[in-house]
Amino acid sequence: MTSPPQANGHAHHIAPLDASLLTIQRAETLKPVPEPGTYTFGDIKTDHMLVMTYDPVVGWSAPQIKPYGPLALDPASNCFQYCTNVFEGMKAILNPDGTPCMFRPVDNMRRLQSSGARMALPPFDADALLTCITKLVLTEARWIPAVPGHALYIRPTLIGTKPSIKVGASDHATLYTIVTPVGPYFPTTTGGVSLLAVGEHVRSWPGGTGGFKLGLNYSPGFVPQQAAAVLGYDQVLWLIGEDKQITEAGAMNFFAVVERDDGGLNIVTPPLDGTILPGITRDSTLVLLHAHAADTSRKILDLPVDKPVYIEERILSVNELAEWAKAGNLLECFGTGTAVLVVAVERIGDLVGADVKQVRDIEMKAGRGLGPVGQALWDKLLALKEGRDEFAGWSVKCE
Ligand SMILES: *Cc1c(COP(=O)(O)O)cnc(C)c1O
Repeated sequence: MTSPPQANGHAHHIAPLDASLLTIQRAETLKPVPEPGTYTFGDIKTDHMLVMTYDPVVGWSAPQIKPYGPLALDPASNCFQYCTNVFEGMKAILNPDGTPCMFRPVDNMRRLQSSGARMALPPFDADALLTCITKLVLTEARWIPAVPGHALYIRPTLIGTKPSIKVGASDHATLYTIVTPVGPYFPTTTGGVSLLAVGEHVRSWPGGTGGFKLGLNYSPGFVPQQAAAVLGYDQVLWLIGEDKQITEAGAMNFFAVVERDDGGLNIVTPPLDGTILPGITRDSTLVLLHAHAADTSRKILDLPVDKPVYIEERILSVNELAEWAKAGNLLECFGTGTAVLVVAVERIGDLVGADVKQVRDIEMKAGRGLGPVGQALWDKLLALKEGRDEFAGWSVKCE
């Protein structure tokens, strides 16, 4: 990091984030690790957390792994007043020889940097943070559930802590990481998730912040999420514009699979135009689909060889889905994300007319569980995440 010149003309040393300064203070008593299957997403607190702070005069503090506990923050802190909160979601899984592995963690670090920059938060060194997070995962290794479909979820968080209610960028920050053991994200749904298409409240808009993982992108969605739940839907299918363009499903990227007249499959997903979060699972899905399409033996994914895939990143509307469903061509829809990996969309409720109770359901031809494409991607991605298979160095060992 370069040292900005000070007002008095003297260069001043601002400490960069330095993983070699990491200290580990172990908890005196360790908590019991609950049995997998007994907890819901995000509730379990482990023994330790990783914390470092930024001060505009001294720069980054020495990173600390210390017992899990509350942060003491000034009530005027910028994050409480102006939502300077950005985060990441990643997972550690045990590979077949018992080594903890993360999936494309460098991409999460880069996205956290870009989210932080969007909120004018102080920059940090991505490699240094990843080194510290790796140490945290190793410190909490006994919390990684050794059960298929389970993982240690990792939540790096960067918040603005400038202790002033003055509207403006926070030149103070806290960068911390907590971890929590998780099972399947939608444990109660056997087939998949149902989505209510919502265009009245939008999640993101052109020129907005949908392309970043900012805390402020999620809370405005809680009201429409509750409304969808009242109507019996699990999640919201976020729309934008008069023509009901699909952006995302809950906090997942969205894919539709359409059967072509020639027997092939069109796989359609909205483009990264700034309104959509650039999901690492989305990118992995597209890379695998392109590799499969380019492979003459079509062996990358476990799909019928007589069904070539054609990938389309393009604007997609809920009206198109309804037309395909009516024509019997809408084979399957699925959502992707670190929390769920790949989840089937079993039906989509589309509001017709002004009355919110008038909902027509769009059903998938493949039925309620994962269809052939979703299943093939699930199998491949899980094998890659669990280190049973290898592709492009995506699975990284924690050591
Ligand atoms: C995190 C997130 C995703 C999924 O991103 P991954 O990197 O695949 O976990 C998709 N959409 C939204 C809105 C998200 O917050």
